[in-house]
Amino acid sequence: MAREPPDSIGVDSSVRFSIAATNCTVQYGPDSVRLIQPPVRLSSRVRRRRCCCELNWLPSDPRSLNQTGNRPRADARFLRVFQYSLMGRRPNVRALPLSEVDRLGWTTERHGTIVGHWTSEKNFMALDKIARTRGGLYGLLIGDALGVPYEFSTPDSLPARHLIEMSPPDDFSRAHSSVPPGTWSDDGAQALVLLDSLLQYATLDLRHFTNGLLDWYRYGFMTPDGTVFDIGNQTRYALENFARHGNPLTCSPVDDWSNGNGSLMRTLPCALVGALTPTEVVARARQQSLPTHAHPRSQLACALYAVMAWRMVDGEGPVEGLDFAQDFVESTLDPSERSEFFTILDGRLDPSKGSGYVVDSLWSAIRSVLATSDYESCVRLAISLGNDTDTTACIAGGLAGILYGEQGIPDRWRQALKGEVIVEEMLARVTEV
Ligand SMILES: [Mg+2]
Repeated sequence: MAREPPDSIGVDSSVRFSIAATNCTVQYGPDSVRLIQPPVRLSSRVRRRRCCCELNWLPSDPRSLNQTGNRPRADARFLRVFQYSLMGRRPNVRALPLSEVDRLGWTTERHGTIVGHWTSEKNFMALDKIARTRGGLYGLLIGDALGVPYEFSTPDSLPARHLIEMSPPDDFSRAHSSVPPGTWSDDGAQALVLLDSLLQYATLDLRHFTNGLLDWYRYGFMTPDGTVFDIGNQTRYALENFARHGNPLTCSPVDDWSNGNGSLMRTLPCALVGALTPTEVVARARQQSLPTHAHPRSQLACALYAVMAWRMVDGEGPVEGLDFAQDFVESTLDPSERSEFFTILDGRLDPSKGSGYVVDSLWSAIRSVLATSDYESCVRLAISLGNDTDTTACIAGGLAGILYGEQGIPDRWRQALKGEVIVEEMLARVTEV
């Protein structure tokens, strides 16, 4: 008989993600309990392999699970035990084909589709990584789209935090009023351009990537409807420069005032594609910043964020991920860059303003992740800071999406997001790498 998990597992950030699974169905037989998860959106390759999970753990009294007639419901404690298993810390979970489920004659109460192909601890972790990766990209895009109507607003002119939705309250004067709710902006589009480029050239071909950015600017590449409705001044300047001269290494301004958050907002894919070393993550993150935000401060902010996200994709919590990222990026610094790096670290002591300055933007986003315990609260907090709401929520939402996984993102926001076909196509490529 397996040991029961400690009561404190709920504080583990990686478990918090899993608890987001709701509407689970419990089936129990004579000596074990089985819980079926609602569908997790996985690549079609995985989705075809349908199975459920069996947990060889019998509660001391099965009736302690809440029961309503023939429809048992998981209580919170049981969910925690199950989720704990899902994280691969109890290797006594095995896959059970649906045909087996029927043959065993268990009580069957099914809601929706059962997905997953979980045969070992290793596969559990792999699946979980897919959920975090998908959560990261959706989290970024949904945070961006959610923040679009509130862009440029001061904090005190925003609706109450619980009213922040894709469609703002009627009495709120929204930004970009012609843009349909649920549309990601320049942040999401540029992140998808980077993802597309990384999937073709894992070490990042800067010319290919910058041409992708130019295609976005000119033709709406990687937008849900071909429309570009928002572009930062620095990015516009750099891309027009690139269009004239064709050199991605010389088109960006490099003065101290050219440290907007325009490259930070698109950095996340550096942490999502392929199995990498942190050295490679830093290299990618810095390079992708060069065409539009070449100043070392911008590059290092991107590197810090990408390494933190990369650790979180592997299952680490945000605090540990950030600690690792700080130590690692510091170890890679050229001596001439140390003061820039400490300018970034010192920025965490300043109040979060949700502005377009890369240092404030980074800490506003990270603080939103650290101060909340679910995706919804995180992106709403980021938006409530006002100003560059879509970008703060995009940067925070990418991390929160990784932390809580795809299932931690509210369904109503998933359904409201435009351009899902584009996202799914990209994610199918990511999970096949
Ligand atoms: Mg934007």
